[in-house]
Amino acid sequence: MNCKTLSGSVKVEGIGLHTGEKSVVWLHPADAGTGILFRVSNAQGRAEIPALVPFVAETRRRVVLRKGGIAVQTVEHLLATCFGMGVTDLIVEVQGIEIPIGDGSAQIWIDAFRDAGINDLEKLAPNFALQKITIEHSKVTLNVEPYDAFCAQYVFVSEHPLVGVQEANFDLKTDDFASEIAPARTFGFWEEVQLLWEQGLAKGGSLESAIVIFPDRYSVPLRFPNELARHKLLDLMGDLMLLGFKLQAKVYARSSGHTHHFQLCQILWQRVEQEARA
Ligand SMILES: [Zn+2]
Repeated sequence: MNCKTLSGSVKVEGIGLHTGEKSVVWLHPADAGTGILFRVSNAQGRAEIPALVPFVAETRRRVVLRKGGIAVQTVEHLLATCFGMGVTDLIVEVQGIEIPIGDGSAQIWIDAFRDAGINDLEKLAPNFALQKITIEHSKVTLNVEPYDAFCAQYVFVSEHPLVGVQEANFDLKTDDFASEIAPARTFGFWEEVQLLWEQGLAKGGSLESAIVIFPDRYSVPLRFPNELARHKLLDLMGDLMLLGFKLQAKVYARSSGHTHHFQLCQILWQRVEQEARA
């Protein structure tokens, strides 16, 4: 498959989920080989930060990229949209410290990509042939094995009686990312949300930008019966985009989050570097 970028530039603005700060994002077309490059300017200064494993500074609740003293937060839903729509090369100009959350899903990015159009570049997208890898931590399982495209199964396990166990499946060959995965919104359990507020996170969180799960109800009607598992699958795809190549794999994930997905990316990143040196 070829590299892809946007056909034109498009502007998106909004509030960040964790900082509550407003930011302006311009997406610009890029040459093949650029990768996803964040061009960030904010009160800390200016930097060009590639969306790649070595620039990941934090994976708690969201993915933070950093170069020198300049950081940009919550890049995962935009990166997931790149993964799902096959966009390999893009310049993301950010005025601010956090990427806008929109309605908590990747819908704002799907809309932006559609407004701009997607363009094929005359270069094959890099990929990598991997071997089987399994990561296990108490209740978490993350397993990848070779596959000729990309497919994933995510199992979300909760003791909350309303949620229980949710499962979502996606195959890039046969399923439509824009309608099946991108609309799934981020979520938080009510007790968790209160804790995040105490820790200074989720400041931009509101009932318009996330699903809140109260002891007896959801804050809004769900878009899919398994919306939570679909959102976790969206996050997984965004995190895997940090590899900078199209991962051809069959992925099984149970109760995993950004930190586990990033651990997997680090293992794969080392293997790619080893192969490049061999
Ligand atoms: Zn998310």
